[in-house]
Parts: sequence; C-alpha cells; structure tokens
Amino acid sequence: MENKKEFRSWLDKMNLGHPLVIAGPCSAETEEQVLKIAHELKDSDVSAYRAGIWKPRTRPGMFEGVGAIGLNWLEKVKKETGLMIATEVANSVHVDLALKHDVDILWIGARSTVSPFIVQEIADALKGTDKIVLVKNPVNPDLALWLGGIERIYSSDINKIGVIHRGFSSYDKSKYRNNPEWQIAVELQNNFPDLPLICDPSHIAGRRDLIFDLSQSALDLNFDGLMIETHCDPDNAWSDAAQQVTPKRLIEIMKDLKIREKTSEVEAYIKKINNLRSQIDVADQNLLSTLGKRMEVAKEIGQLKSDNNVAILQNKRWNEILGKMILDGEEHGLSEEFILRVFKAIHQESINNQKKILNK
Ligand code: PEP
Ligand code: MN
Repeated sequence: MENKKEFRSWLDKMNLGHPLVIAGPCSAETEEQVLKIAHELKDSDVSAYRAGIWKPRTRPGMFEGVGAIGLNWLEKVKKETGLMIATEVANSVHVDLALKHDVDILWIGARSTVSPFIVQEIADALKGTDKIVLVKNPVNPDLALWLGGIERIYSSDINKIGVIHRGFSSYDKSKYRNNPEWQIAVELQNNFPDLPLICDPSHIAGRRDLIFDLSQSALDLNFDGLMIETHCDPDNAWSDAAQQVTPKRLIEIMKDLKIREKTSEVEAYIKKINNLRSQIDVADQNLLSTLGKRMEVAKEIGQLKSDNNVAILQNKRWNEILGKMILDGEEHGLSEEFILRVFKAIHQESINNQKKILNK
C-alpha cells in the first residue's frame, strides 16, 4: 500500500480541529447516561461522541452492550448536540445497523483487526461508504496485520480512513493495560505520513491517572487526534470503570495539553535545529565507526576461538560487560533498559559474526 495523499484530505477538509477529539463512554448504558455525558461535552473541544453499543468482552457473562437500541440514543445525541457520533462495528450486521442510524465514524476494534475474515466482512459491508472508518491496531504488536486491515478497508473504496493506536497486549505485567510500543505507531506514521493517526490513551492506560501523560506523548509524536473514554460516573461504569474520566476532567485535560506545531518557520529555531542536527549527524558517524571497529575486534576473537576450539558464548565475560556498561551508562544519563537493549543487540551481532568464522 503506497502512501495516499487523499488519506489526509478528509481530515483537513472537515475542519474537525487539531487534535481531533473523540470522547464518550466505553459503553452506552442507558439513554439518560448517553445524553447526560453528551450534553456535558457539547461546548468543549470534542468533535465526535463515542459509545460502544456491542462490546467485545474477554469473558462471557460480562456486560456485552445494549445492542441496536443504543443507536437511537446516539442519533439523539447528534440531533441535540450537533456532535458527530462514533461506534465500534464487529460484523456486517453491526455495519448495516450503524449506517442505517447515520453513525458518522465507525471503528474496527482491536480484537477484530486481528482477524482478516472479520475485517474483510466489515470492509465488504462498508463498501463505498463516505463515512469515516478508523482501524484500531490489533491486540498483538504486529504492524503488518494492522496494515492489512487498513488495506482491506482501502480496497473497499473507502476514502475517509484513519487509524487508532490503543496499545498492545503482552503477557508480562506492566503499569499499562496495553503497552504503548510507540515505535510501532511511529513506523506506521513514517511509512504513511498522510494517514490520520489517533491515540486512544484510555485503553493503553487502563487507569485514569495515566491518561494525561499518554495524551501529551501522543501529541508530541505528531498524532492527529485523541479518543478518550469519558463517563459521568466513571467508578460505576458498566465497563472499563478504572480508565474513564469525567467530562469535567476531560475538558481540563484538553486545556492543559500542549499542542505542538508540526514545525516552525522561526529563523532562530531553524538555525539552532540545523546546528544541533549536524552535531547528531557527526555523533552518528562516530557511533558507526566505533561499532565497526568493535566488530573487527570481535571477529579476531572469533578466529582465535576457532583456532583454539573454544565456544563462542562466554557467559561470565558477557555478564561482566553488561554489569559494567549499566553502571557506566548511568553516569552518561543512559537508562538501564536502553543499555540492555543496545548491548544485547551488539552482542548478538558479534555472535553472528563469530559463528560464521567458526563454521567456516
Ligand atoms: C473500546 O474502544 O471500547 C474498545 C473495546 O477498545 P479496543 O478495541 O481498543 O479494546
Ligand atoms: Mn473500553
């Protein structure tokens, strides 16, 4: 899929504000709840109102959404507040109903994006629609699968496409419900700079105290919009209670976020950044030449091991290097996590080179 300029044009043309803000409850619960939240968001930066009508729950027996009746409530929201309305669709029946009720933004959830069959069914049902279609990342950190979902939608003659980054699940516990893995969204953005990119900090965080920082990180990384779960009584929400914020808090968050410019034309800025960038270029060249020299030494060691029939991996020596580098790295302001990643990569490359020598 090449980068298509028309990807972005819908966002620019529709004048939805920067960032585009989509807010509303995880789930539509009652007509009263849906309308109450919508009215509290009416005169804010929010452009579109979200509410899940059909909820993909991990375990059966949990609240699975109010179903089609909730679409009437969303239509009421649009009529009474002028907000666009958004909901998740997970099969062709959902799509038909959402289109019938004039839903403006239909999104494909993370559990659907993992399934090419489901995405294709949704794409076929949406064929040629002029509604906005947003594709959430799959639950697993697989950029190709995410791109595949976007391609299926694009191939269905849908022009108003965007993506939602909602984090990736992992077996290891972290402070996030779904790890942000920002590098995946950044890679997507590098390949498709014209594809509108929205962050869903609510499902990344899983808890409301992390929403602000995640939203700021997204804006710092050039995201075009935010989707934030908002509920009038978060603690008693029927789904995702821990991560929802009140409309009042959402308005505060939007007020406090620093909206970054894509770039600046200010002369002093341009001069300074060019200077700093050339310093980075020099540092990068030095890094490459140092890494190259290190690898030459590693290869000589490989030859020596080969001549003396010694194993490649020397655990004791390797652990000593790592321990020392973590300590020294700290003095240079480099985190342990970073040092581990960098030196593991370097070590792996040395092993690969030495293997070639030993297997000659
Ligand atoms: C949601 O937006 O409520 C939702 C179910 O999200 P996700 O598909 O990202 O889990
Ligand atoms: Mn939710």
